[in-house]
Amino acid sequence: MTALYDLLKRRIALTGPMTLADYMADCLMHPEHGYYTRQDPLGAAGDFTTAPEISQMFGELLGLCLAQAWLDQGAPGAFTLAEPGPGRGTLMADIWRATRGVPGFHAAARVHLIEASPVLRGLQAERLSDLPVTWHDTLDGLPEDQPLFLIANEFIDALPIRQFQRDTQGWREVVLGLKDGALAPALTDPAPLADLEYRLDDTTPGDVVELCPAIWPTMQAIAARIMDNGGTVIIIDYGGWRSTGDTFQALENHAYADPYAHPGQADLTAHVDFEALARHAAPLAHSALTDQQSLLAALGLAQRAEALAQKLSGDALENHINAFHRLTDASEMGTLFKALALVAPGSPLPPGFAPFTPKAAP
Ligand code: SAH
Repeated sequence: MTALYDLLKRRIALTGPMTLADYMADCLMHPEHGYYTRQDPLGAAGDFTTAPEISQMFGELLGLCLAQAWLDQGAPGAFTLAEPGPGRGTLMADIWRATRGVPGFHAAARVHLIEASPVLRGLQAERLSDLPVTWHDTLDGLPEDQPLFLIANEFIDALPIRQFQRDTQGWREVVLGLKDGALAPALTDPAPLADLEYRLDDTTPGDVVELCPAIWPTMQAIAARIMDNGGTVIIIDYGGWRSTGDTFQALENHAYADPYAHPGQADLTAHVDFEALARHAAPLAHSALTDQQSLLAALGLAQRAEALAQKLSGDALENHINAFHRLTDASEMGTLFKALALVAPGSPLPPGFAPFTPKAAP
């Protein structure tokens, strides 16, 4: 048992069952025992790896995508280039290198990172020592008077979710209680829930639906800035559109684990419901949901991969080819990972994204 396990048990014994959101927040970000607070979980030695860690091509193509979006909006001077949850800083480093040749982009960009983990802030500072970087605890700290170009990769899946099961009488919440001295999930009594009213049409009793309330005010804060000053948001994560089902999961040493067994020791995530993000970012317009494979192909991944391959041989070439497949194959990240872009109504979408048409909704 971990120290956090005992702490949570004591708290539940005193104050009753806790929501999955409170549980996730403690497991990931507890100041002493939190998974992200204590360590760097990324890469081969950690519990999981991410697209920017797999290949430099990911950040390069998305950097050029953001730069084109900036050019399409008239290349505004002094803009915010923001990334929440930047991990080791790899995505931002690749974005920065790839946009070197875009006239005026570096001079106008003010880099703002949103990071809760002191360990990862340290790695980001090392990695991005040449960049004009400001750190924030939350997205509320971002400047309010500049265009905002923001990219988030595998950030929202780490935010705490609440889970509900539909019942004939309303919704039961999945909470964490105690059973025989161990942490165990349980269901509350059913009750109506205004936030899930809109899901009554497409769910039936027994269905599980997840909400991520932590992101709602954040989407509003982003939308307000983009409505006032312009900009764009690109969100990449695993998930879907109007998702249904239990997606709460734990990864420990690159393998799936019981999310309730080792609080603070495993990475906990849930799939992202992109429709909910778009709803809470109103009045911003959003693109159609696309997948990582299609987005990277549209941004020129094949050509970039070919160009890099020319300079490689042996193991390096083999790794490069493997990375290409990991990013794009349907059996790897290619179709599980989705991307959504948001802009002010009437602004052009970034390259690689198609307009949303309600009938063709994914
Ligand atoms: N985007 C990176 C890292 C993904 S891991 C990549 O693609 O490699 C998730 C990141 O989000 C980590 O940097 C973690 O510390 C950060 N994070 C998780 N929850 C957070 C929160 N509530 N506030 C700020 N950062 C958070």
